[in-house]
Amino acid sequence: MRVELIAITSDPERLIARCARVSHRSESRASPEADRELIRGLLARGHESVLEFAWATFLVEGISRAAANQLTRHRIASFVQESQRFVDVRDRGLVRPPTLTDAQWERARSLHAKAVALYEELIAAGVPREDARYVLPIGCETRLVVSANFREWRHIIGLRGSKAAQWEVRRFAAAVLRILRGHAPTVFGDLEVEG
Ligand SMILES: Cc1cc2nc3c(=O)[nH]c(=O)nc-3n(C[C@H](O)[C@H](O)[C@H](O)COP(=O)(O)OP(=O)(O)OC[C@H]3O[C@@H](n4cnc5c(N)ncnc54)[C@H](O)[C@@H]3O)c2cc1C
Repeated sequence: MRVELIAITSDPERLIARCARVSHRSESRASPEADRELIRGLLARGHESVLEFAWATFLVEGISRAAANQLTRHRIASFVQESQRFVDVRDRGLVRPPTLTDAQWERARSLHAKAVALYEELIAAGVPREDARYVLPIGCETRLVVSANFREWRHIIGLRGSKAAQWEVRRFAAAVLRILRGHAPTVFGDLEVEG
């Protein structure tokens, strides 16, 4: 899986603090350290609405449709996903779950190759892509763009980074957290993606 940051609010922590300061007219007290302290206080008190002023957008490639289906349940985020109705996806790989042995993976790959062969055959016979895709496994790779504000990213990372979440979705959450921490260490510094 490749997770690429394609857009982010410029100087996000400064913006968040600046917006938050409007409520108490404390703009004159702004400084990098005071802003960090302010954000830590907002998080501690659960005053997270001000995090909605900052946004980040990611391009995700090589993620399975099984994992993408889970991510797109997040209603506050915005998505674009590659369409199997319109795009010929015969060259998309199969994502390997880490629990499969080499022998099991070889069988999965062979089944995938047969599914792709049937997919090609159906398209050649005039079946539309939107129907031919029904024979493809849910482990096939897809690509998507996902955009959310920082409050929602904290929510997504919290849910999808926990041990209860599936490994591939957790991997996504870990990649997003790593990137967002680099840009907004105070906002995302308290989050962890478990094992
Ligand atoms: C470990 C795990 C297992 C799961 N298993 C299943 C499963 O078996 N079956 C299944 O169907 N789903 C499952 N899900 C998906 C889950 O039920 C949620 O649909 C998904 O996590 C999105 O969460 P959310 O609604 O909190 O987030 P978002 O849609 O991102 O919303 C963020 C927050 O906004 C608020 N919000 C959003 N929309 C509304 C609304 N309409 N009304 C009021 N408040 C709103 C809520 O506070 C919400 O938490 C699972 C999720 C996880 C993390």
